[in-house]
Amino acid sequence: MEKHMTVCPYCGAGCKMNLIVENGVIVDAEPLDGVTNEGNLCLKGLSGFDFVNDTKILTPRILYPMIRRTKGADLKRVTWDEALDFTAQKLLEIKEKYGPDSIMLTGSSRGPGNEANYVMQKFTRACVGTNNIDNCARTCHAPSVIGLMDTIGSGAMSVSIPGLEEAACIMLFGYNPAASHPIVARRIVKAREKGARIIVCDPRVIETARIADIHIQMKNGSNLALLNAMAYTIVEEGLVDKAFVDAHTKGYESWLDVVMQYPPEAVEDTVGVSADLIREAARTYAQAETSIIGWGMGVTQQRQGVQTVHAIASLACVTGKIGKPHCGVAPVRGQNNVQGSCDMGMLPNLYPGYQKVGDSKVRAKFAKAWNVSVEQLSNKEGYKLTDLPHGVKDGTIKAFYNFGEDPLQTEPDSADMEKTLKDLEFFISQDIFMTQTTALADVVFPATSWGEHEGVFTASDRTFQRFTAAVPPKGECKHDWEIFQELSCRMGYPMRYRNTKEIWDEIREVCPQFYGATYEKMEGLGYAQWPIPDVDGEGTPDLYLGGTFNTSDGRALLLSHRWVAPTEEPDDGYPLVLCTVREVGHYSCRSMTGNCRALAQLADEPGYVHINPIDAESRGIRDEELVWVYSRRGKVITRASIDERINAGAVYMTYQWWIGKCNDLTMHVTDPLSGTPEDKFSSCDVASIGDQ
Ligand code: SF4
Repeated sequence: MEKHMTVCPYCGAGCKMNLIVENGVIVDAEPLDGVTNEGNLCLKGLSGFDFVNDTKILTPRILYPMIRRTKGADLKRVTWDEALDFTAQKLLEIKEKYGPDSIMLTGSSRGPGNEANYVMQKFTRACVGTNNIDNCARTCHAPSVIGLMDTIGSGAMSVSIPGLEEAACIMLFGYNPAASHPIVARRIVKAREKGARIIVCDPRVIETARIADIHIQMKNGSNLALLNAMAYTIVEEGLVDKAFVDAHTKGYESWLDVVMQYPPEAVEDTVGVSADLIREAARTYAQAETSIIGWGMGVTQQRQGVQTVHAIASLACVTGKIGKPHCGVAPVRGQNNVQGSCDMGMLPNLYPGYQKVGDSKVRAKFAKAWNVSVEQLSNKEGYKLTDLPHGVKDGTIKAFYNFGEDPLQTEPDSADMEKTLKDLEFFISQDIFMTQTTALADVVFPATSWGEHEGVFTASDRTFQRFTAAVPPKGECKHDWEIFQELSCRMGYPMRYRNTKEIWDEIREVCPQFYGATYEKMEGLGYAQWPIPDVDGEGTPDLYLGGTFNTSDGRALLLSHRWVAPTEEPDDGYPLVLCTVREVGHYSCRSMTGNCRALAQLADEPGYVHINPIDAESRGIRDEELVWVYSRRGKVITRASIDERINAGAVYMTYQWWIGKCNDLTMHVTDPLSGTPEDKFSSCDVASIGDQ
């Protein structure tokens, strides 16, 4: 029996663990005393390993390369040389005919690690010649990255996961840690036990609401109205930290102009709670010795996602609840390495280390490091992942290279996404499983899985940790970075990495704030929390200590915005709000957890629509009954789960199921500032299957 140290491949909590291997097969997992998990793992960490063994419960592992030579033909097994030559030739033809910006790529925020993502974005920029690269952060925390960069300068948690339990007050906004990050939820429970006040702002009675001092059971889609009313209270009741505002921020008067239009009494109908409760929450947050605001998709997957993040960061600044230990902002990232994908420049406007593509000095630096001319690196911001459907429709995007994502399952309006993928002139998918997305590809590259390769992940709180391989690659699978490298060589831009350490050392060289994070420092249970500019440095658990922000003049920019109603409000035809959420036992598109025996037994097709008893009764729906859920986009069949913790007037579905897929119902409307879909709010109705 062997033990191999790794980091959990699921959420961004970064839990360290051992994989236990017997006769070349992963048979168990055990927790380790990692910096974020301290000897604990949740259900997914403990039971989510056997997908690597090719269980074929949901879908088989892809074990060899395949190509579809002509549209409509079947995928056929080929050699690696045939697959790579075919792909290189097609991409070069498309680049020649339509230009480099006709090719779009998306990276993987899951098991591959930072090194693979770095090589993919380098291939995109130095070889293809475009900035059309993005990752699944577009669907989740892109508004957090943009909103925090606009205000305080860094698009990441300013605090650390262990530090959460030391705060005197934690306010959770649109975030259900018990389902999304159970080990983070454990820190919040510990904070509560140490005496912290907990405020939960969420339409549902989520698990954390049960231990909260204040639960603002707000109406769906009212985030900015609530935050503005809290800001109003803080100003009106003299709770602004004027010394901090004067010394460390700018834009206070403009910020004030908007928030003073939102007395709590004026938003009672919009938010759905009393003005007194809003005032109490604002007071509790502002008067605590130390306070942290944590948020999730309930903030970001909204029409005003970026503007809401502006409001959160500004609230932290005007109350002086940032820039000192155990105070700050915490956008807790969903997938295990989505922070890492952003760190590695899998973004259409940023190189690795958050360096701007529009900055000529930055471009010159990367041109030198990558041995290309400055002119070869585009200065034009690339397409976002959510631009893909439109780009294919208007003919600007001809080829798409999908790396470890499943947009047909995870992006809104599946019917439109399916048409988009089918209409592409050339579609490459590199994955470990034959997902519904990959089944549409013209080229399928079989990649190694988590458990079969090594590298570095970034946890949600900027903590770099190493993970190692436990078993050899299956079939003919290759490491992701090797596939990009071999393709790049065939397309005329040679790369010659021999291992992930060589890639990581190049990343350190081109990203000053990661330079001190050596492989040696991350051996065993070691870790490095960026920014860590020096090899001898300790890393940075709390950002902005002393009130110096990562902006050009060191001051935070306060920003406020008027609340705007969601795009598709309920009406007579579709009277319920549809909100997408998470299922605790499954992860993302379910290709990994759906292939794990224990997790598949826990929850399986066709999933659930969670509905309040009042809405169920008025429709004659019984608990566990099969029902239709229908919207303007389509209809799906699923099971009803009647639940008093759900607010009346809204229903909740997860996006993991192949049958009963909620993204058949959601709409492709995005926040104009981030391109993130408004997955938390569209309209629908529910009916017994006999009634439709
Ligand atoms: Fe894995 Fe997240 Fe669970 Fe930790 S909390 S074991 S990282 S899924």
